[in-house]
Amino acid sequence: MKMNQFVIIGLGRFGSSLGRELIKLGYEVLGVDRDEEKVQELSHVLTHAVVADATEEEVLRSIGARNFDCGVVAIGDDIQASILATILLKDLGVKKVVAKAVSDLHGRVLERVGVDRIIYPERDMGVRVAHQLVSPNLLDYIELSKQYTIAELAVPQCLSGKSLDDVNPRGRFGCSIVAINKPKGIIIAPVAKDVLSQDDVMVVIGTNYQIEQFQHSIG
Ligand code: ATP
Ligand code: ATP
Ligand code: CA
Repeated sequence: MKMNQFVIIGLGRFGSSLGRELIKLGYEVLGVDRDEEKVQELSHVLTHAVVADATEEEVLRSIGARNFDCGVVAIGDDIQASILATILLKDLGVKKVVAKAVSDLHGRVLERVGVDRIIYPERDMGVRVAHQLVSPNLLDYIELSKQYTIAELAVPQCLSGKSLDDVNPRGRFGCSIVAINKPKGIIIAPVAKDVLSQDDVMVVIGTNYQIEQFQHSIG
């Protein structure tokens, strides 16, 4: 299902950043916050922004929350409000409800009330930054499973001018380069003769161990 319209409950740092980005991407966003100042700040950015308490069912009904494809509960500190807003959005029939959790227990409660997706921004960003700090070439990564990862690695100077055949990542480590992003354009499914240059970005797929070994060899 394609998501078109989003309602965001809570316009703190997380909710407002999410809303701004969705607008940039061309989607419609209704922002809700009980704090008038927060709503003021975003009233010219979001499609609509309203001052309301999202723990009141009548309020959510009157703003037409059920017509949205996706609801995001971005309340953190007030866990009770987060849980109530989540249940109300689900009960109103919002198809997909995503909620931010500030702790494990908060997340477990949200799971019990049937939230479709839980986000732990601080925890997940901490994990991500740790990986990036210990591996300077790592720009970003996606965990495909416990074992497999896709990583974006910056090409260091020591690989500049070398072909994949020279570097031999598949032969030496077992990981494959699925794309090379160059300033001039992206090479999808590169072959042995394709050449790397400094500051290209390699997209590498493999097991965590294979990618680590490859990174060690170039870091
Ligand atoms: P962030 O880290 O994203 O800034 P936070 O985790 O500190 O947020 P809060 O500050 O508790 O979370 O909540 C984010 C926003 O949600 C605040 O602007 C707050 O006014 C709003 N909010 C809290 N409870 C409600 C509610 N019941 N209805 C509407 N908005 C609410
Ligand atoms: P393989 O069975 O490993 O693909 P091959 O002899 O068929 O070996 P070629 O396609 O000629 O291989 O590539 C030679 C070497 O260049 C490979 O062994 C591999 O290490 C490296 N190579 C080529 N393309 C890639 C790629 N997309 N990702 C990682 N390594 C590659
Ligand atoms: Ca916070």
